[in-house]
Amino acid sequence: MGQLHDVGQADGWRCWLCDEPVDPNMPPNDPRGASIDTRITKARAKKRKQDKKNLPSERLAHKGCNTGKGANDPVVSWPDHLIVADPAPIITAVERLERKGGREIMARCPTREDAEAASVWLVDRLSRLAPGLEVHTEIATTGGQFLVNLCT
Ligand SMILES: [Zn+2]
Repeated sequence: MGQLHDVGQADGWRCWLCDEPVDPNMPPNDPRGASIDTRITKARAKKRKQDKKNLPSERLAHKGCNTGKGANDPVVSWPDHLIVADPAPIITAVERLERKGGREIMARCPTREDAEAASVWLVDRLSRLAPGLEVHTEIATTGGQFLVNLCT
């Protein structure tokens, strides 16, 4: 229980996958209860070794969200209210940025307003998903569409 409490504290009692609050007092078998997601990725494991940085290897997740049990790669979803085409897999993109920096095209949007909404959401989401990673967004226009780039 001590470990769960530490991981919960580190993540502010918020599920790293769905970004919703986790109630530490839920019964352990409730799908909304707290659990530890230990699916540390290869990139992250390597980086921890290299820099001896204190990147978290364990994250807080709802029991219901934490269904992979090491078998599947974790997935962070884009919210339904954003109008984006070709949304990039968020965790994969974040890992590449953590590994070598640069920029990742995250989504294509039909209007600048949609691209700005997606940018705001992404930066806010990443501030909790990857607290050690400093990112900003850039919006590029191409062929009448708006590309949301995530840059280090
Ligand atoms: Zn969750």
